[in-house]
Amino acid sequence: MNSKDISLVESLLNTPKHIVVVGHKNPDGDAIGSCLGLANFLKQKGHQVTVMMPNDFPKFLYWIPEANNITIYEQEITKSEEIVTNAEIIFTLDFNALDRTGDLQGVLEAASADFILIDHHQQPDDYARVIYSDVTMCSTSQMVYHFMEALQGLEFMNSEIATQLYVGIMTDTGSFRFPATTATTHRVIANLIESGAKNSEIHQKIYDTNSPDRLKLLGVALNNLVMLPEYNTAYITLTQEELTENNFKKGDTEGFVNYALSMVGVVFAIIFTENKKEDIVKISLRSKGSFSVNEFSRSHYNGGGHTNAAGGRSLLTLPETVAEFISILPKYKETLSYDA
Ligand code: 5GP
Ligand code: MN
Repeated sequence: MNSKDISLVESLLNTPKHIVVVGHKNPDGDAIGSCLGLANFLKQKGHQVTVMMPNDFPKFLYWIPEANNITIYEQEITKSEEIVTNAEIIFTLDFNALDRTGDLQGVLEAASADFILIDHHQQPDDYARVIYSDVTMCSTSQMVYHFMEALQGLEFMNSEIATQLYVGIMTDTGSFRFPATTATTHRVIANLIESGAKNSEIHQKIYDTNSPDRLKLLGVALNNLVMLPEYNTAYITLTQEELTENNFKKGDTEGFVNYALSMVGVVFAIIFTENKKEDIVKISLRSKGSFSVNEFSRSHYNGGGHTNAAGGRSLLTLPETVAEFISILPKYKETLSYDA
């Protein structure tokens, strides 16, 4: 954040305010962790803060301190609308465009509050009064740490914030291994551990949560994996029927696409998941090196994200989506070279 923005934020937060902190639809560990960490900090500074998500989040995140106090728009529409309408400041975290908030978008657009964006995704939209965007950051949770730092607020760090931010950084960096993980990330993590984040325990609570159903679904997904060696690409499909047969629950397919990316020679991995309820195919894209799945998803799947991790959706049927995918790959053949 530049010094002008810091001064502006300081003046906005100078007196107690009604604040809403919003994350994106289908919130992940970084959305939940960064929003809760920021809210905790703002509450200690005397503000009245509501953390709001457009819809529910996976069970493996429920244990995070204060997660049970999150207002889920989809579950409490009238109350949520009232809170957003009365807000004086709205922080939007871990997303770059209001359409990432699903049905909450219209409510946010109608709000009279000052918006403050904190996010690490590429090409942020221009809807906020303060834009703290840094695409080199591994996670929004790390940015919340730097936000506190910039406001001389690290004295408010406590074991809850440390835990919340640790979850966000850990999940968005694939446990500190993705390229955006820097020496600074590790320094921040060291400070969080010293402030009370129990690293090993947090890891277990997030990752050792497999159900038999999820592992069976993973088996189905791996069985459906298709390798396209010519393009150093691999894709996975999951039909609604396969999901239903294995009692799919929100979050169950998280990380499946990484198995495709973990194969020798693969630089581009993608999973197509049928969602009959929303009548879409949900798409998760991952890459290694310079191939930008952000650009790919923007061009073809009405989505986006980062260079190496992005999401999107298709309105075609699952077989049509796959056929279309295979038909557009030749255009990318040169950029999909394997040089590791
Ligand atoms: P995932 O594949 O885990 O859902 O998402 C990967 C990354 O892309 C995350 O950082 C997520 O926030 C972002 N992302 C997922 N879906 C979308 C989308 O529809 N639009 C945009 N702009 N980003 C997305
Ligand atoms: Mn994130």
